[in-house]
Amino acid sequence: MDCLFCKIISGEIPSHKIYEDEFVYAFLDIYPCSEGHTIILPKEHIPRYTNMEETDSASLFKAVNKVAKVVERTLNVPGLNIGINNGEVAGQSVPHVHVHIIPRRENDNGGS
Ligand code: IMP
Repeated sequence: MDCLFCKIISGEIPSHKIYEDEFVYAFLDIYPCSEGHTIILPKEHIPRYTNMEETDSASLFKAVNKVAKVVERTLNVPGLNIGINNGEVAGQSVPHVHVHIIPRRENDNGGS
């Protein structure tokens, strides 16, 4: 499978791992919108969010909830953007479904 994120999950491409369980893998974004920008994704190769079954989506978001709380607490930030780009026209550049967890700080100019 020639997928960047599958290669990160398998370790073929190195990453800064934040969290892993049997269903998901989370790591730091290489081009962060803000310090601590985390990507979390299912280990199974599913191209986009709307390809997911409800049960898989629920498992993904159970882990998103856990990781988002850890990011917020560890970095002591007042807020986060949590989001998905679903499809190329929506800004999805890597066709393996993933959720962005972007720490936000006061007056951070939109995290960019
Ligand atoms: P998308 O634009 O929603 O598909 O998000 C893809 C994200 O993957 C972007 O924020 C990229 O910065 C990030 N990214 C691309 N390549 C790598 C990598 O090799 N390691 C970590 N993050 C990456």
